[in-house]
Formats: sequence, structure tokens, C-alpha cells
Amino acid sequence: MRFLAVKLGRMARSVRGMKDLYGRESDKFDFIFNKFRLVGERYGFGMIYTPILEYTDVFYRSIGDETDVVSKEMYTFLDKGEESVTLRPEGTAGVVRAIVCEHLDQCLPVKLMYCGEMFRYDRPQKGRFRQFRQFGLEHVGDKSPYTDAITIAIAVDCIRSIGFCDFKILVNSLGDDETRENYTKAIVKYFSRHEDRLSAESRIRLKKNPLRVLDSKNKQDVEICSMAPILMDYLSKDSRVYFNKVCSLLEDYEINYEINHFLVRGLDYYSHTAFEILPTSGTYKEAIGGGGRYDKLLAILGGLDVSGIGFAIGIDRLMLLMDDFFVQQKKRKIAVIPVSEGEDSHAFSLFRDLQNCEMASEFIHLGSLTKKMKIADRLGCAIAIILGSNEIQNNTVTVKFMNSSDAANKTRSIRLSDIINFLRCN
Ligand code: AMP
Repeated sequence: MRFLAVKLGRMARSVRGMKDLYGRESDKFDFIFNKFRLVGERYGFGMIYTPILEYTDVFYRSIGDETDVVSKEMYTFLDKGEESVTLRPEGTAGVVRAIVCEHLDQCLPVKLMYCGEMFRYDRPQKGRFRQFRQFGLEHVGDKSPYTDAITIAIAVDCIRSIGFCDFKILVNSLGDDETRENYTKAIVKYFSRHEDRLSAESRIRLKKNPLRVLDSKNKQDVEICSMAPILMDYLSKDSRVYFNKVCSLLEDYEINYEINHFLVRGLDYYSHTAFEILPTSGTYKEAIGGGGRYDKLLAILGGLDVSGIGFAIGIDRLMLLMDDFFVQQKKRKIAVIPVSEGEDSHAFSLFRDLQNCEMASEFIHLGSLTKKMKIADRLGCAIAIILGSNEIQNNTVTVKFMNSSDAANKTRSIRLSDIINFLRCN
């Protein structure tokens, strides 16, 4: 096949909606993941890596077969043993499946975080891919408004840890079984009155899973939904007390949130607290992340009847939003450049010293000085340390700030013995 493509003069393509990550983009990904992981560790979460492929049933049973994700977007196929398998469209179901299979729920609470590729057969557009990456975490076995508020706080801390502050938190409560039973009755009554104006898809959902009608993106459905009864008015007494406590804890935590009555999230397994994180600056308005509490998921997948809460943040979306400040946030890379071959070994020895001090650095020694400086620039180095024969004679180095517009401070002569300290402070 490969040879045939070459023969016909066609270039091999990557699958639509799936992209290669390298250079600046893979740097951004690593930067975000490392920061998020540190936040998760600070709150006591450990990493879990689950398979990318799960038996399809795991998603059918947990996410719900009337959701967009399951009904339209899954990459599902029969493997060679005729078993139906699916590339994971989200992380929670797989992590909970692992908790059940590995009997981790025997010792509660379980606090796990994950990061990896998810797959959804969606229409590719800005910030929406068919393969994308999520960082998420799950906290199972500690049902309390404190855990809900802490989980939202962790999501906030994660996003702030990369220096991104232009976002808001939307919260809602989906209540308990009693709440949803009463609410479902109310919206069935309401939507039935408007059934002839609903899209064909929403009419089917109205019969099978009425809450999902609220998820519709169809313009006319959205208009009808905007007048629908709100879930908050049907919260059971217990659910209301629970939600009020979550909100007051968020206030204590000084987390700005807005209550959004129509936030039901796209998946069936949520109960009680649901939340979403949206950007507030720029033109991109889609959610960066979201999560919520799930009371039934463990039991549905064969585990104990314990509740959990989690969230997932879409790393690719954050990468889109963080372009401007990433350059300043990124660890500065230093180029060590000998002027000529005579200084190679001195420069190499300095490069080793920088690496031993965990300073990101490159040893650039091939070609003319001009060429070496160009390479340093192309590799994204912010500082060049230049060693010529004069510098070696005087036990100094010349430090050049590559992006500085301040002519007086662009180039400095520093004593060789002071260079590590100088780099740490500048
Ligand atoms: P969800 O599980 O749908 O709530 O998704 C959680 C987060 O994953 C979203 O807020 C997005 O940031 C990200 N996400 C979901 N779907 C996609 C997609 N098709 N492409 C890129 N990011 C996505």
C-alpha cells in the first residue's frame, strides 16, 4: 500500500482530526501535563494508566447510549476475536472500570489521576479533534460537599498553575434520584407540549432519555429548552442542602462561580454537583474542562455502591489558548557557543555544568559564529553564552540575551565562576 501511494505520487496523510505533536506543541503539552501532575500530587492523587481500548460495554453502560458521545462519536469495531471494542472517548469510565477490576474500591478513598489520548468521531474544527488529550482525576469513596468543593478547587489550581487566569466556573446540581425523577416528569410534560417543534433527534430522546433533550445543539431545540423548567426548582431537600454547602465552600475558597441551570453535561452518569470551565477572554468560547459527581457509576460497572467525583481538562484546547504567555512561562533554554574550534572543549565543559545544574541547554559548535547564533535562535534559546579566546584568557563568558530590546543590557561579560548564579537570577 505504502509503495503504491508513493508510486501514484500521493503523500501519506494523518487521519482527519488527528495531528502530530512536536517541537513547540509537544513542549506545551509536556509543560501543562507536568504542572497539572504536580497539583494532583499535592492533593494526594497518584497516576493511573489504563488501556486506550476498552470493551464497548464499559462505555454503553456508564456514559449512556442516548448521549452524543456514545450514539454518534465512538470509534467502535470488532477485533479479530469478534469482540466489540472502543477507543476510549473519555477517561472516567476506564478509570472506574480499573478500580473495580483491580478491587481498589476495597480500600477507600481512591484518588487517581490520568492523562492521555481520547477519541471522538466529531466534526473537526478549531479546538475540536478526533484524537485529543485530557488530564483528569477521580476521587472515589468520599461523598461530601467538601470533596466536591476541593475537586473544583483542584481544577482551578491546575489551570492557574500554567499561568492561565481568564476562565470562569459554571456549576449546577443534578440532584439525587428523587430529584431527577420529579424533574424528568416535569420536562416530559413541558417538551410534550412543544413536541411538534422539536428536532427529530430530540423527539426520540424525549421518549428514551428526556434529560438529553437539554443537551441538543439544534437552534430551535435550544430556544425551547431556554423556557423549560429548571432542575434547581425540583431539588430534593437533601440535594438542596448538599448543593448550598458546596456553593458556600466555593465562596470560602474564593472561587468565583456562576450557577448555570441548564448545565447537565453530556454524559448520563452524573448526579449532584456538575461543573464546567469556560474561557472568558478571546474569541474561543468552548469549554476547557468539566466534571461532576457520579453516585451510580461504580455499582453499574460491578463495583461497590460508592460515589465518586472527577473532572477532565482538554489539554489541546488549553494549548490553543495559552500561545501568548507560553513563551514567558517556558523554562528558558541556554545555548553554549564556542567562537571557534579552539574553545570547543571549554564550552562543552560549561554545557555539562549547566546540565548538572538541571538548566535546559544546548551545545552548538558546528559552523561559523553567525550560523551558530542562528541555530540557537531556531532552537528557541533565550540566552547564548559565548566563549572565545579572550573570554578563556580572562576567565569570563559573554552572555547575550537573544530577545532583549534593551541595547545596554543585551550583552554582558560575566566571570566564569559566577555564571551559574547569574543564570539562576536572570
Ligand atoms: P467532556 O468529557 O466532553 O466534558 O470533555 C472534557 C474536556 O475535554 C472539554 O472541556 C474539552 O476541553 C475537551 N474535549 C472534549 N471533546 C474534545 C474534542 N473533540 N477535541 C478536543 N478537546 C475536546
